[in-house]
Amino acid sequence: MAAHRWVYLFRDGNAQQRDLLGGKGANLAEMTNVGLPVPPGFTVTTEACNAYFEDGASLPEGLWEQVLDGLADIERQMGRTFGSPDRPLLVSVRSGAKFSMPGMMDTILNLGLNDVTVRGLAAEADERFAYDCYRRLIQMFAKVVLDVNADLFEDVIDEHKRALGVRNDFELPADDLRRMVAEFKEIVRREAGQDFPDDPHDQLRAAIIAVFESWNNRRAIDYRNANNIPHNLGTAVNVQAMVYGNMGPDCATGVAFTRNPSTGEKRLFGEYLTNAQGEDVVAGVRTPQPIEQMADDPHVGPAYQQLQEIAQRLEQHYRDMQDLEFTIQNGKLYMLQTRTGKRTGAAAVKIAVDMVKEGLISKEEAVQRVLPSQLDQLLHPTIDPGHTGEVLANGLPASPGAATGQVVFDADEAKALAEDGHDVILVRLETSPEDFHGMLAARAVLTARGGMTSHAAVVARGMGKPAVVGCTALQVDYDRQQITINGKVIPKGDYITIDGSTGAVMLGKVPTIEPQVHGDLATLLGWADEIRKLGVRANADTPEDAAKARELGAQGIGLCRTEHMFFQGDRIWAVREMIIATTEEERRAALAKLEPMQREDFAGIFRAMDGFPVTIRTLDPPLHEFLPHTDAEIEELARTMSIDPEIVKSKVVALREANPMLGHRGCRLGITAPEITEMQARAIFGAALDVAAEGVDVRPEIMIPLVGDVEELRLQREVVDRVAQEMFAKAGRSIPYLVGTMIELPRAALLADKIAEQAEFFSFGTNDLTQTTLGLSRDDSGRFLPYYVEHGIFKNDPFQVLDREGVGELIRIAVERGRKTRPDIKLGICGEHGGDPSSVEFCHQAGLDYVSASPFRVPIARLAAAQAALEQSERDV
Ligand code: ADP
Ligand code: MG
Ligand code: MG
Repeated sequence: MAAHRWVYLFRDGNAQQRDLLGGKGANLAEMTNVGLPVPPGFTVTTEACNAYFEDGASLPEGLWEQVLDGLADIERQMGRTFGSPDRPLLVSVRSGAKFSMPGMMDTILNLGLNDVTVRGLAAEADERFAYDCYRRLIQMFAKVVLDVNADLFEDVIDEHKRALGVRNDFELPADDLRRMVAEFKEIVRREAGQDFPDDPHDQLRAAIIAVFESWNNRRAIDYRNANNIPHNLGTAVNVQAMVYGNMGPDCATGVAFTRNPSTGEKRLFGEYLTNAQGEDVVAGVRTPQPIEQMADDPHVGPAYQQLQEIAQRLEQHYRDMQDLEFTIQNGKLYMLQTRTGKRTGAAAVKIAVDMVKEGLISKEEAVQRVLPSQLDQLLHPTIDPGHTGEVLANGLPASPGAATGQVVFDADEAKALAEDGHDVILVRLETSPEDFHGMLAARAVLTARGGMTSHAAVVARGMGKPAVVGCTALQVDYDRQQITINGKVIPKGDYITIDGSTGAVMLGKVPTIEPQVHGDLATLLGWADEIRKLGVRANADTPEDAAKARELGAQGIGLCRTEHMFFQGDRIWAVREMIIATTEEERRAALAKLEPMQREDFAGIFRAMDGFPVTIRTLDPPLHEFLPHTDAEIEELARTMSIDPEIVKSKVVALREANPMLGHRGCRLGITAPEITEMQARAIFGAALDVAAEGVDVRPEIMIPLVGDVEELRLQREVVDRVAQEMFAKAGRSIPYLVGTMIELPRAALLADKIAEQAEFFSFGTNDLTQTTLGLSRDDSGRFLPYYVEHGIFKNDPFQVLDREGVGELIRIAVERGRKTRPDIKLGICGEHGGDPSSVEFCHQAGLDYVSASPFRVPIARLAAAQAALEQSERDV
């Protein structure tokens, strides 16, 4: 029986074999087969890696023989011999899993050198070059295979440079490099307790095993856990003939993107270094040149022409922007890697739209190419490009968006100041669960410590709040209540601006601009609209929000929270009167003050949403949220109502609830005080009649919250219908309207068939439905939910990503039972999940009619809905 095949020559593979050959290997094979100049080589498969571990860390049978065959093939193509003193073949050993993984083993270059072969290499060019390759090999091999501290080698290099008075590695003469080789070997002997292997075959075998082993190193495992990459994929190993970018002035090494990865501009973008090898370009030892300068360099100019042609060809071939690595040896170009290039949100949109215009991809593909999270980058306020602010320091861009505010150090203080109408930025060394309410109140968060997955970063992203973390230049002095950044002292209360998209921390109030949908983004979203089946509405409470939502593509309002208008201006006093009222007359008097205000608001929203439905929810929150708290406020309320402050006080106490989330709220308010619902219905229909008379197409949908039993809905519906009939009769005309309910209690979902008898629509209020299904208070979850997510007890925060198994199941039940009673019942979702891509996908699959998201997430929902529809259609065929 022939041995299993563990090794593929580059010319025997192709781009489809990523599973077997890894991303790097599959693409090297593909480039070889389309005739590009790739140094010959072979790939040891991922299967070999898995077999290695299954066999108790030994090379599987037949592998080494196949490696030697592969090597012989390279030797023939290169006209060189591995380990030969004359024209020696050197190879690189490169790891490459299916997904590119930063935790994996570093590449080893110049493998095959020893004290004998180095002389053969020197004979081909010069000694300096040969010993430079040799010392690099020992360095990389020692670090990667033998786990020797890399600093030890750098120290030696620094000593030599100091002694010679030179600054750059490439200024070191051959003599020094030769001596360094000896010193490096001594370090290896001392640190690793073994000699650097002279035998090239021993070097190769050890390097292949080291790549396999790196699949299971700590960094790699952590990375896979963090990115949901399965642990059983294994890594491939690529062995490839060396080409030299460090042989002289007509040699170079570089990296390039076929289009600009930050703007998307269609022009080769990248950097190169002449007379350099491998990762010198990214290692920062010398400053690389912008790639277009190659054109003016007589040594590498012709190769640049060819690189441009190849870049184009690769784009056409892969039909996407590519990230390339190349080397030029004596003026001849070699391609060493190609892969799909990472890009910013702005670049992703532009490249997708441009490629459709170029005829390279279809509109459907363009829509699938942009991640909703990339759109997120574009839909936050940004620093006005014309600003004159000073960047004090840069931290990690942990959560996108720019914000300005006063520096505050304490969470309680942040909350208090925010309630007084201040914009604040919470500045901490790092944040902890105790800071949650302060983060919620702040416009943005800035920390001195912590990385992209620190508490501050994770929580801020969850809240959609800008954050810069790990800003090490920032000194936070809680005692003095000030921060110092690069010598600049900023006391509490002073303004700073941070940009969570770039990590910049700036002094003072720097102007920001609101995101807009225009140009390429508008084009792309237009295509998404053609594809998607789900409607997209917005949650908006004011005419301004409604107008913004419409501008961003909302096709109606899925949730208008009437009570949000109660906090504006003087209204709160009328609201408080309504709550304190002891008799129906008193309450009606207060409601009479509120009615014209509500009517005006509704009119504004109807106008903004001309032609689209507007879902208005009747009063929902626990009443004590509106009550006066301080003595001064209580006295003022008593004065306006001309009653005893003590009565007000006792009323406030009486209204306090142990568990307001499950207390006297939702339809329970309108049922115990129907005059409230009556007033709201009058305001809605009054506004509708007014605005319809102006020629506006009005489509009100009245939504009763927190219904758990059909009887509750029937009672509230009766009030609404009665008011409508009265007002239509008086006006002599009528307005078509719907009455429906929010499904936000498990009981409502289970009894959806009964409730549908009274409901013309259901809107899944997934914020409360998540709270009530999981028995989890959102306001109190900050103390433990981050722990749950971090430790994998919950896969996601269920308030951000819909819990499909629990909440989702209830939604499916409600959809099915609701439709059984009323086949044409309208179904939507209005929780914060309406703007989360994974939740949007669920809504599509569950067969809902629309999702409703906060205005700035409307574009994300449009894209996510289109992507959900496309995935479905692919599965259908
Ligand atoms: P990474 O996955 O970290 O990018 P690579 O395997 O791509 O590692 O290797 C890094 C760099 O090493 C390449 O970009 C290239 O410059 C250099 N390199 C790798 N193999 C060769 C080779 N056969 N000849 C010349 N340079 C090489
Ligand atoms: Mg690298
Ligand atoms: Mg690479």
